[in-house]
Amino acid sequence: MYEVYDLHTHSTASDGTLTPSELIQRAAQAGVKAIALTDHDTTGGLSEASREAIRQDMVLIAGVEISVTWESRVIHVLGLGIDPDRETLQQGLRELRRFRDWRAEEIGRRLEKAGIAGAYEGARAYSSGGLVSRTHFARFLVDQGQARDVRKVFKRFLVAGKPGHVPGQWASLEDTVSWILDAGGQAVLAHPARYRLTRTRLRKLLDQFRIAGGEGLEVISGSHSRDDVFKMAALARDFGLLASVGSDYHGPDLSWIKLGRMPLLPIGTTPIWDGWRLELPPADA
Ligand code: AMP
Ligand code: MN
Ligand code: MN
Ligand code: MN
Repeated sequence: MYEVYDLHTHSTASDGTLTPSELIQRAAQAGVKAIALTDHDTTGGLSEASREAIRQDMVLIAGVEISVTWESRVIHVLGLGIDPDRETLQQGLRELRRFRDWRAEEIGRRLEKAGIAGAYEGARAYSSGGLVSRTHFARFLVDQGQARDVRKVFKRFLVAGKPGHVPGQWASLEDTVSWILDAGGQAVLAHPARYRLTRTRLRKLLDQFRIAGGEGLEVISGSHSRDDVFKMAALARDFGLLASVGSDYHGPDLSWIKLGRMPLLPIGTTPIWDGWRLELPPADA
């Protein structure tokens, strides 16, 4: 049995390899009933996704995955059920994309110094008109023969201490959650086990996230092990957070993550979609 909700996916509007329409079609084939498109720092794919979801008789949840700097680390916060037309949200996202554009050029310059020419143009070409992410640099560098796969490129070039790494400041946790709430959405902390925080620091993050108005924790994630799932389920319960499920699908070429193949949430968690269901009118006495 698999969950029929997938609340974390990417399209060509950010660093996914499928267009929003292709993503929705593939999800429909995989048996997904409700999908959230959560591109990094943009809602640009949502209108196309929404048209295709209607054709496929699937529920589309309007989403976004926002890049946040928390205590000098990058973490990701999902906004689910947002109104993409809200100006506060869009203004925040525009600011993040401005930083992204500058960062992409800077990554290019730094790789150039390390002897790799044309990486900025290369990454741009891989971004299919959407924003430029480190994933696009990684795909370019793989095709240039700099490393065998995307993960190896990250390790060798794109993480702290490596030639193509550019430090910088993304949004604050408080601003991010407030943009999401202002847009009528729910804030969910994405792939919490991936940050490699100590237990104490993760609890501190969850405390601050809750105080800011965060509601959900991604318990099931394409990047969580079974052990992570149970640990995160316990944390969700302890902090009174709703549990979310997301593959973090980026396309069929990254074969370790599959659409529509998310394990069921552990008992004891409250699925975030529980609150989305329609309430029956009270029974006649
Ligand atoms: P960016 O937001 O441009 O810094 O890029 C971050 C994206 O790169 C993430 O959303 C992942 O899709 C991808 N990514 C980050 N770290 C890795 C890694 N070690 N291996 C493969 N992909 C990664
Ligand atoms: Mn990504
Ligand atoms: Mn992420
Ligand atoms: Mn993601």
